[in-house]
Amino acid sequence: MDLHIVGAEPSDEERAAVDALLGPPESGWFGGRRNAVADGRTSYGGLQTVTDRRDLLLPALHAAQDRIGWISRGALNYICRRLVVPPAEAWGVVTFYHLFETEPHDPIAIHVCDDIACRLRGAESLFAEHLAPAGSHPAPSTRHAAPAAWHRSPCLGLCDHAPAALIVRAGATPSADVVTSIASAAEITTAIQGAGTTARSFSRASDETGPIKLLRRVGVVDPTSLESYRTHGGYRALARAFALGPAGVIQQVVTANLLGRGGAAFPTGRKWEAVAREAAQPHFIVCNADESEPGTFKDRILLEDDPFALIEAMTIAAFATGCEHGFIYIRGEYPLARQRVQQAIDTARAAGLLGARVMEHAVAFDLEIRRGAGAYICGEETALFNSLEGKRGEPRSKPPFPAQVGLFGKPTVVNNVETLFNVIDIVLEGGEAWAQVGTKASTGTRLFCLSGHVTRPGLYEAPFGITLGELLQRAGGVANGRALQAILLGGAAGSFVGPDALAMPLTFEDARAAGTTLGSGVVMVFDDTADLTDTLLRIAQFMQDESCGQCVPCRVGTVRQTELLERLRDGARRGAATREDLLLLTELGQAMRDASICGLGQTASSAIESAVSRLQVFRQGGAA
Ligand code: SF4
Repeated sequence: MDLHIVGAEPSDEERAAVDALLGPPESGWFGGRRNAVADGRTSYGGLQTVTDRRDLLLPALHAAQDRIGWISRGALNYICRRLVVPPAEAWGVVTFYHLFETEPHDPIAIHVCDDIACRLRGAESLFAEHLAPAGSHPAPSTRHAAPAAWHRSPCLGLCDHAPAALIVRAGATPSADVVTSIASAAEITTAIQGAGTTARSFSRASDETGPIKLLRRVGVVDPTSLESYRTHGGYRALARAFALGPAGVIQQVVTANLLGRGGAAFPTGRKWEAVAREAAQPHFIVCNADESEPGTFKDRILLEDDPFALIEAMTIAAFATGCEHGFIYIRGEYPLARQRVQQAIDTARAAGLLGARVMEHAVAFDLEIRRGAGAYICGEETALFNSLEGKRGEPRSKPPFPAQVGLFGKPTVVNNVETLFNVIDIVLEGGEAWAQVGTKASTGTRLFCLSGHVTRPGLYEAPFGITLGELLQRAGGVANGRALQAILLGGAAGSFVGPDALAMPLTFEDARAAGTTLGSGVVMVFDDTADLTDTLLRIAQFMQDESCGQCVPCRVGTVRQTELLERLRDGARRGAATREDLLLLTELGQAMRDASICGLGQTASSAIESAVSRLQVFRQGGAA
């Protein structure tokens, strides 16, 4: 720990911001003023401190950036001293995450989404004045007359109100806000002058009759009021869970055959059983709320509009699996969700629903929020653990699996937000009754995020088994009466289907049989005017930007894939896409699938290859 970025000291503001999070430094060894008498020449407990506090690295970096808009060398030095983290390692961490700035930056950052759904709704025209042309990812920010820096951003999870932008203000009282359904760049500049209010929530519960479960409180309950949550049935499930006992709760979840809703569709009950029987202590529970799949916004709406339900569901899961501490990892682009969930945690703790004796039972459980910093790969569970531990969000090799060796090397339950919400009704209804909805292999209801060229974009809940065509009709069909060209299922890591797939029931098994996926519930609609070659190139750029770079097939393959897509797009526009390039694209996809460590590399070509093979995208312009 004697290596520092030379000469850099924090400003008083930066020091105060970090101290507000970490408390005042205990001695000269940990960032305080050096006192030779008091501190002596030997640092005791240094290694222990490294182990204990490294997980506070991301929160400390956020604290520094929230204060002045970027992370200076002086602030980084100070954070390293406080947490006993080697500066070289901290530098590796800070430069891993898109939202951290390491060069002088205006106190206001404007992140304008240029991902798929926003592009479909005209986002590109917003950039003309302020940003470099598309295709130069990551595009440099440019200064504006106001003290604000503009950035292109990957999906902000606001696809139901595209195009959208996130405005982040640093200062003594940092804030963040969103601007949605933007018609012109002038709306963004007007919003910059705003008072820094947090985004209001946008949501659409299903407008159809049917078993609405997950969304039944959305737009109905007051998300800031525990009383309101209780009035709508809140905390009855936890009381029932205590009556069932841990094994009884797990049995109900197993009977329900609840499959994970984050994309992998792993049986939740089996995951819980595995953690519950692990002898190693402590156990941890982590809620993966790092919803970053382009086209996905369901978790945001649940977090913003029904935060107490997440806390209740996590408390049930923790009780069943023997966890006394949990983390909710919320993506950095969701300021309102973070604020609402934090308020709900504080309220629940004050009401004895979290803490040393939950609901007066001999059950201890508490929760804390951790804020992501803009890294899609942190949605992968082991990358998320690394991020929580204050490291680069790089996936780990599996096995060992999280149930045995997870967060901090301990048995860990990790579930997605939507998955956890289902637990409340499973406990209340009993697993068998709950499983009557849906199909035998895909039980319950599912949240679908409809966006793109659809008449009523929004979040829809439907029982598994509804057909793609029926779902599309519930959202009003293709906007403006245009013809349907394609639907992207599951997001950038999913796949395209054509109009011939409208009769497909939306279940895990039917999607698998059709060679596609439900993924995180994305249903993005493209009408006959959409330029799919542009969308495919954006997906390729996204995968390239988000690859953690740890393994060669993904790190190099995603770059080569982008280059191929550029060539193919240009060729298609000239009517000359080449068969050779198409074959190369297929081979490249196979190599990434076979040899990448994690799901990002393994699915980096899925959507692109599906569009090429099913929709013949590069034959539209002419020859192949
Ligand atoms: Fe990282 Fe890609 Fe390898 Fe996953 S597949 S570990 S994202 S380089």
